[in-house]
Amino acid sequence: MNQIDTIEAGSRVRFEGDLSQPVPIPEAAIQRAVAIMRTGRLHRYDETRGDQSEVAALEAEFAGQLGRNYCVALNSGGCALFVALKAAGVQPGDAVLTNAFTLAPVPGAIAHVGARPLFVATTAKLTIDLEHLERQLADSGARVLMLSHMRGHLADLDAVANLCEQYGAQLIEDCAHTWGAAWRERPTGTFGLAGCFSAQSFKHLNSGEGGLLVTDDADLAARAAMLSGSYMFYLRHGAVPPPEHFSEIRLDTPNCSMRMTELAAALLRPQLALIEAWRDNWNQSHDRIAAVLRDVPHLSLPERSAKETYVGSSLQFLVTGLDRARLIDFVAESDAHGVHLKWFGRDDPVGFTSRYPHWRYAGDQVEMRESDAILQQICDMRIPLGLPADDCDLIAAVIGQAMRAALAKPIP
Ligand SMILES: *Cc1c(COP(=O)(O)O)cnc(C)c1O
Repeated sequence: MNQIDTIEAGSRVRFEGDLSQPVPIPEAAIQRAVAIMRTGRLHRYDETRGDQSEVAALEAEFAGQLGRNYCVALNSGGCALFVALKAAGVQPGDAVLTNAFTLAPVPGAIAHVGARPLFVATTAKLTIDLEHLERQLADSGARVLMLSHMRGHLADLDAVANLCEQYGAQLIEDCAHTWGAAWRERPTGTFGLAGCFSAQSFKHLNSGEGGLLVTDDADLAARAAMLSGSYMFYLRHGAVPPPEHFSEIRLDTPNCSMRMTELAAALLRPQLALIEAWRDNWNQSHDRIAAVLRDVPHLSLPERSAKETYVGSSLQFLVTGLDRARLIDFVAESDAHGVHLKWFGRDDPVGFTSRYPHWRYAGDQVEMRESDAILQQICDMRIPLGLPADDCDLIAAVIGQAMRAALAKPIP
């Protein structure tokens, strides 16, 4: 009798795997990293070695892959967001719009430039609410939207870009979960002034920590290179504009020391070619689990547009029509059987999950009742690359069984 059959027999199943398993580092990358460590030359600007930097090569390759002119490598995705805002000219005290449903480093990057995050409502598709975005653009005077493609759900990017243009706002995309994703086959990160990617272990590229900023704006790229901490080695970068763009910027821009190391770049370069295979692999698991969850009562999976190419490296669903006590039971039941759901509805945030009212430094926000209700319902789980089909079935079964158990509890 296999594990799924035991459910029919009435006993409980348990998932023993590890959903937090990051993507493994390709063997070629390990070899390269070891070779670099033997030289000790881990800093991107080596005075004697000249132009041979791994980081510069990564910048050129990443820009090429996304079809952008410029790329600057950084030490984290959050720092890429910070650098994009600062290079875009955001000043202390400015309002910057961003999604109500996002991860803490996004409002953190806004606060890092001394600006004020102003949140825009989320829809049940877990994307930015376009009507509220328009109202916020009109009412707040904010001149930048930091659009977070949170957990890889894409809003109508043509509509977002049009609204930004109409109100004279710059669009900066947070693509921490969308390396490999596209809207109308155009990669995310290319719809506005800049796109920011993360290479933190739990995203799609893995160098432990790392960030990549892409843009077609020459001055923004030059400022980003200086901000990243290039000293006067900016021409050693792999995808920056020609020297004349630096003549003033190099003296007007602070060095914020947010460089990527040679080691990180060596780990990342061989990963670039793998995204399509990884996307197919993730999506197979994602879609297999999602297909079962669609039939579980009270679970609702966010709809996706046919224009969206997504990367199912994580899966989200809303738990609707269930009282809070049962919702807490459901999450606890799933957890007790090995499927740890990140629930965004906790009063006190734990782990990676917090929601906008927890970010008190952001100050007063407009009331967003529907978003508040949606955020309370969001459950999220990572999907490790290469999850076997049996494990997908088991995970879906654990979640279904958790719901049945929660529903079977007597009403308190
Ligand atoms: C992880 C993440 C970031 C920040 O990336 P780091 O590289 O960890 O700084 C930004 N936005 C979202 C939505 C993320 O999930």
